[in-house]
Amino acid sequence: MVTAKVWVLKKHFEGFPKTSDFELKQIELPNLKDGELLLESVFLSVDPYMRPYSRRDMKEGDIMIGTQVARVVESKNPAFTEGVFVVARGGWRTHFISDGKNLQLLPSGWPESLPKSLALGTIGMPGLTAYFGLLKVCKMKPGDTVLVNAAAGAVGSVVGQLAKIGGCKVVGSAGSDDKVAYLKKINFDEAFNYKTVKSLDEALHKASPDGYDCFFDNVGGEFATAAIKQMKKYGRIAICGAISQYNESVPQKGPYVQVPMLFKELQMEGFIVTRWDSHREEGLKALLKWVVEGKVKYREHVTEGFMNMPMAFIGMLKGENIGKAVVKV
Ligand code: NDP
Repeated sequence: MVTAKVWVLKKHFEGFPKTSDFELKQIELPNLKDGELLLESVFLSVDPYMRPYSRRDMKEGDIMIGTQVARVVESKNPAFTEGVFVVARGGWRTHFISDGKNLQLLPSGWPESLPKSLALGTIGMPGLTAYFGLLKVCKMKPGDTVLVNAAAGAVGSVVGQLAKIGGCKVVGSAGSDDKVAYLKKINFDEAFNYKTVKSLDEALHKASPDGYDCFFDNVGGEFATAAIKQMKKYGRIAICGAISQYNESVPQKGPYVQVPMLFKELQMEGFIVTRWDSHREEGLKALLKWVVEGKVKYREHVTEGFMNMPMAFIGMLKGENIGKAVVKV
């Protein structure tokens, strides 16, 4: 008999999440039936989507949603042998039972030297978000100037590096001087700290006086308002996230985008990465290749201990992470 530890959403978040909104519980898992397997989480992901999706998809008392890299501990399913690592949508649990559906093996050719946690970050959902968002929504092309915010995070850091590989000029904004230094290290052409610049308008103009062809927006709100004004004619805006709005109890109000969108004939499109699930393998293969070749660098913000899941989640929302925020069990 295996006892799993799980984190439950005790109380729906009001404003910024608090540790008291979560509760740690223990669950006895039953013996495996034919076709099932027992999984042990090795790395768990903490992601911004958990904040809005908890309100949309969960009720109080549910186990927190989320993905992990997990090891098959015991298998009564011929498709998965013991010891194999998979990416699963098992929620915040140390152990769980699966029927094998919706489990993804790590991409083939994954070198032993590469941390498996990258399957939650650069070579996982956030990396794919950058890849498809840039190619399919921003429709980036060589010579474009690409702007990305939350640029030192899981998605943003890949956006900037892929745009450089694609022959673009890249401008990034992030919330600390350490993050700005990191962006320069990974080849961003221009980077600034949006929290300390005197004016967002000036910082954006200084970084690219001619304006922007593509804007990969992870943040929304005030930043997006300033950025939209500095788009070039026919510019493309990919709405990937709106993290500045996820914790608002009262919805933010305008300014509104219609006038700059009209006169500059801009395109703006929201997207969710799962739209390209059928092209997932292609995206992961490309990301793995670039990482192995050293063309895409990665950094992770690793919190030790399953007990610290809520702190890791809250820390990521506060901006404590450079690169992907993960928890090592
Ligand atoms: P990150 O690793 O970038 O972590 C979140 C970062 O957001 C923080 O480090 C912080 O960085 C920044 N941030 C937090 N609050 C604010 C704020 N009020 N204003 C500006 N920045 C803020 O997370 P991800 O890379 O995983 O996600 C980035 C965005 O992409 C999110 O909006 C997320 O919802 C979205 N996303 C969308 C997907 C899709 O399919 N559309 C898929 C995956 C992610 P800083 O210090 O710079 O403020």
